[in-house]
Amino acid sequence: MGEKFEADVAIIGGGPAGLSAALVLGRARKRVVVIDEGRPRNRVTKETHGFLTRDGVAPGEFRRIAREQLRAYPSVAFLEDAAVSAAGTDGDFRIATAGGAAVRAKKLLFAVGMRDLPVGISGLNDVYGKSAFVCPYCDGWELRDRWLALIAKGARALHMAKMLAGWTRNYAILTNGPHELTDEQLQELSRHGVPVFDAPIRHIVSSEGMVEAILLEDGRNVACEGIFFAPKLAAGSELPRSLGCRVTEGGTVVVDAFGKSSVPGVYAAGDAASELYQAISAAALGSLTAAGINNELLHDAWEAVN
Ligand SMILES: Cc1cc2nc3c(=O)[nH]c(=O)nc-3n(C[C@H](O)[C@H](O)[C@H](O)COP(=O)(O)OP(=O)(O)OC[C@H]3O[C@@H](n4cnc5c(N)ncnc54)[C@H](O)[C@@H]3O)c2cc1C
Repeated sequence: MGEKFEADVAIIGGGPAGLSAALVLGRARKRVVVIDEGRPRNRVTKETHGFLTRDGVAPGEFRRIAREQLRAYPSVAFLEDAAVSAAGTDGDFRIATAGGAAVRAKKLLFAVGMRDLPVGISGLNDVYGKSAFVCPYCDGWELRDRWLALIAKGARALHMAKMLAGWTRNYAILTNGPHELTDEQLQELSRHGVPVFDAPIRHIVSSEGMVEAILLEDGRNVACEGIFFAPKLAAGSELPRSLGCRVTEGGTVVVDAFGKSSVPGVYAAGDAASELYQAISAAALGSLTAAGINNELLHDAWEAVN
């Protein structure tokens, strides 16, 4: 028999969103269980940038500090495990974990982040998080003024090209197959001096994680010092969908301003429930959602007295 937990709130996911929610709920004297399997999307990187007071912190170090600070609140428990099923209704949810633990909670918070799907480019895994990134706000500063390759196609390529121009003027678009750009879009890129290569990518050449060149199937070789690419994403967990929560086509749980999903008692926060994809935004949404959950718990308890 596995361990059994009774909590006011079960938080599934222990990244910036889940940990921030745990802090607010712990300080509000709620019994919390944080279930986390420890596979955040940014585990490929060495540094998290743009989080005020923590600029450049390693993702693991961020979590370590958060867990250490949460130790001050004895009503917060941690379970290093994967939640594999969720059932029940508002006031009485049950979560089962891969390790055999059973958690009963009045409210559920999904802070499960997003998951990268393979993009199928040879050599990309060797450089992802070291010299290939997905978001200029996160890693553009470190690659400022460098020669970069932007791997994306269609309207998304144009959007990312406009954004990248804020960090460097030296970049080419590699569409890895049909460019899916209109004539107007191609002319716009040409006006801004952005070359477009539409041959499929054969391989990314790198040394110790640092990209050196991108070989194309037409024999050309694009030298570069860094890459930004359009990732393919999926929901971090299918559990919100299995409980009946409304989820967008892209895998984002649909929530209100306080993180409430379409299913009573079920909340979502962080990357799982927004497309901001920034650690500080995820933490802020976790905090806001925790306040929403706490308000609902206080209200339920108040109303239960007759
Ligand atoms: C390469 C890369 C670089 C980045 N760099 C930066 C940066 O420099 N600055 C910045 O602000 N942001 C950066 N980000 C974005 C940032 O990582 C995310 O916005 C942030 O981590 C989101 O926090 P979260 O708590 O919502 O989700 P996550 O941090 O992804 O945490 C979700 C957690 O939930 C767990 N989980 C999922 N399903 C289950 C389950 N069923 N049971 C138990 N646990 C589960 C996961 O294992 C994970 O630990 C980067 C992202 C990537 C991919």
